[in-house]
Amino acid sequence: MMNRTEAAFTPESVTEILRREGLRITCNRRGILQALFKSGRPMSLQEIQSAASSHEGAHPDYATVFRMILLMEKLHLVHKVNLQRSCSYYEISDPRKHYDHLICRSCGSVVLIDIPCPIGDAEKRIAQQYGFRDLSHSLEFFGVCATCP
Ligand SMILES: [Zn+2]
Ligand SMILES: [Zn+2]
Repeated sequence: MMNRTEAAFTPESVTEILRREGLRITCNRRGILQALFKSGRPMSLQEIQSAASSHEGAHPDYATVFRMILLMEKLHLVHKVNLQRSCSYYEISDPRKHYDHLICRSCGSVVLIDIPCPIGDAEKRIAQQYGFRDLSHSLEFFGVCATCP
């Protein structure tokens, strides 16, 4: 194992990554990043758009949010969470970390699972057996949370 200190995952570090990808960091895009980092839960594109607008000077249109999220998803900086609702939900994600979720069917609360991925080994076996590389997955468990009757 390499023993190097890893850079913190912050709006600034993500801005740096996006800049290296050739994205111009406008006020709107800064607002979108702030919105993603501030929210403790997955958000729809619409929610990201309106949350971004509370950032000073930011009024991103839907297309700007859409394109930026698409780019960030490609770079593994956001992760799509399947909430089994009609639109897609996204959350900010550190590309070095892994994100699986527990979702309450009753109140809709979303909890990030803080244990090693339960299907990490299976993913490796699947990749091997089918000759796929760079696999990723989205794993959501649906149930009823402790505070719901
Ligand atoms: Zn609940
Ligand atoms: Zn997983």
